[in-house]
Amino acid sequence: MAETLLEAKKLNNFIGGDWVESNDSTEVINPANGETIVQVPLSDGSTVDKAVEVAKKAQKDWAKVPAPQRAEVMLEVGNLMKQRKERLARLLTMENGKVLEEARGEVQEGIDMAFYMAGEGRRLFGHTTPAELPNKFSMSQRCPVGVVGIITPWNFPIAIATWKSFPAIVAGNAVIWKPATETPIMAYELAKIFEDAGLPKGVLNVVYGKGSAVGDAMVHHGDIRVISFTGSDVTGRNIASECGKQLKKVSLEMGGKNAVIVMDDADLDLAAEGIIWSAYGTSGQRCTAASRVIVHEDVKERLEERLLAGIEKLTIGDGLDETNKVGPIINKAGLEKIQKYIQIGKEEGAKLVAGGYVLEDGDFAKGHYFAPTLFTDAKPDMRIAQEEIFGPVLSLIPVKSFEEAIEVNNGVSYGLSSSIFTTDANRVFQAQRDLDTGIVYVNAGTTGAEIHLPFGGTKGTGNGHRDSGVQALDVFTEWKAVYVDY
Ligand code: NAD
Repeated sequence: MAETLLEAKKLNNFIGGDWVESNDSTEVINPANGETIVQVPLSDGSTVDKAVEVAKKAQKDWAKVPAPQRAEVMLEVGNLMKQRKERLARLLTMENGKVLEEARGEVQEGIDMAFYMAGEGRRLFGHTTPAELPNKFSMSQRCPVGVVGIITPWNFPIAIATWKSFPAIVAGNAVIWKPATETPIMAYELAKIFEDAGLPKGVLNVVYGKGSAVGDAMVHHGDIRVISFTGSDVTGRNIASECGKQLKKVSLEMGGKNAVIVMDDADLDLAAEGIIWSAYGTSGQRCTAASRVIVHEDVKERLEERLLAGIEKLTIGDGLDETNKVGPIINKAGLEKIQKYIQIGKEEGAKLVAGGYVLEDGDFAKGHYFAPTLFTDAKPDMRIAQEEIFGPVLSLIPVKSFEEAIEVNNGVSYGLSSSIFTTDANRVFQAQRDLDTGIVYVNAGTTGAEIHLPFGGTKGTGNGHRDSGVQALDVFTEWKAVYVDY
């Protein structure tokens, strides 16, 4: 299947419009069945240096291309993504494991982002202001920053890349992009789409390799003026520290410990449906995945019954088989981390009522699969209720009141997404005011962001920047004040 969909058996870096081979490479494994899909380059810092040199030259010309022409390229990218949507989705499922329905949704996000940014790229408005002196014209402009570095994770290999690279490119920057080594195929496909769409050579460059080699070299490179990073907490904080030393602009989107609040007046069927999808979709490997349910004690048992019934219906397996609703875990390390937290949850005294084990029988043994898991009677300060597990593990925390629910929701170091199920209009407005997260849902799960709104979190989730929405352009532009005396 991989061979018919993929033109190459080995991927190459994309530098200055050329597909450049590298000496060293590693295998990309399909997490659903353990098969090798393709080889991906393991580059080093010298490849980053070459990419930055060509990007610097290309960016100077690209910045002078009128915004509507830059937008035309983005429109063509959107059209090509639309034409290739099914193929992209299938390749995405193969490299990442998420089920095809979700993969199609992820590719669609990229398509939407292309058309949205084609418009926003034409609307990079500045201001004119009444001058303070006679015969003077005063204005502000948004300018591209220069060469920008994009570092992306494996869990949304195409959507996150489009959230970052599309605003960067329409704003007149050149990009060096390092995708995660687990999921390099989407980067290869997107680079080909840009090539086919007529993006001038050197404006987008893809350098594959390990974070400790390529990512680190990008962060340290003096001519990369912005780093836009999505990934884990530890990596993000190290990157921020180095960027701080260099006064390099850095945008960080990191982890989450997202909660769904279910109040005593909630529609429990609706709540259970939203929770099941948010907690177990993509096997819980989403930054916005629900991993806590903060439930009013009066409805705890009724909600638990519904959740157990929902878990029962989840079919698990290879995401290319459309009868499956939950796919594999990305790799063995991910699986081991989840197992570790199951042990921690048991030791902490939470009650395991569903799942909690690796699926190893039959075909499951070829991939990495974990049973959808539910803990009840969790306490807010338990590690399973505080730390990001990044797997299909949900903890139910009973509370006595709305105020306590808000406090528990906010009592974690992360602040990405939260949700409340209630039919009380007052609680809706109080909750959207008091929930300390970058994204708030009412009567829906914690996932499913739309690209025209800012995406990102408060507190330990990031450093205040946002992917998507017009706000994404803030990361990749700088303001210039211009005064003309006449
Ligand atoms: P990760 O931090 O291991 O890797 C992310 C990227 O950083 C990869 O490309 C990796 O190669 C690179 N990297 C690793 N070490 C580096 C270094 N020293 N210097 C520079 N780059 C380096 O994260 P992951 O496991 O790929 O992704 C999962 C994490 O991403 C989870 O914590 C999840 O919550 C988070 N995430 C956050 C969001 C968000 O928008 N907030 C979205 C998706 C995923």
